[in-house]
Amino acid sequence: MSGPKTCRTCGVTYPADEAAVLFQRKTESAGMHTYRTEYATCRPCQQTKRDTVKVANRWPQKMRDTLKRHAGRLGYSVSDLALRFGWNLSVMEHEARHAYANGCPYCHKSFKSMGRDLFNITLDIVNPAIPPDFITNTRWVCDTCNRAKGGKDPSSWGAYMAGFRRHEEEARRQPRQLGFWGDATCQ
Ligand SMILES: [Zn+2]
Ligand SMILES: [Zn+2]
Repeated sequence: MSGPKTCRTCGVTYPADEAAVLFQRKTESAGMHTYRTEYATCRPCQQTKRDTVKVANRWPQKMRDTLKRHAGRLGYSVSDLALRFGWNLSVMEHEARHAYANGCPYCHKSFKSMGRDLFNITLDIVNPAIPPDFITNTRWVCDTCNRAKGGKDPSSWGAYMAGFRRHEEEARRQPRQLGFWGDATCQ
């Protein structure tokens, strides 16, 4: 590398000192020969491309991670969950995106407002006492609700949420005494 160089992707021409580091590839050895090769595309272009791929893969990656984690926790293989219980990656992603756009079905809060991006959306096994059929027995919910629900059966969880609704209703009527969900006075 000696002179200036133009990136094949973005068309920017870099002066020699910048080109030397922006197109540099690691030194390769082949037999007795060691030689340096260069990229045709500049580092900034390569990085942008990687970031774009990363963003596009976020949902599929989340689905694969969720499938694997639940398989381990539930004591099934990944293929058992897929074949016997309908944990199909594209169905999972479709449902997850739908929930993400519409808010947590338990607390009705918007996922976007929670601020931790895809970390806030988690898969709940609605009734852990029966088989984990994906369509009838799972739901994408926020991590706060999922943690609060823990191992509660559906009727205990129903009662828990009823208590929260009652508290919220009272708070609406007497805001000074109780405050709304999440207020310091409610902890
Ligand atoms: Zn470029
Ligand atoms: Zn929630």
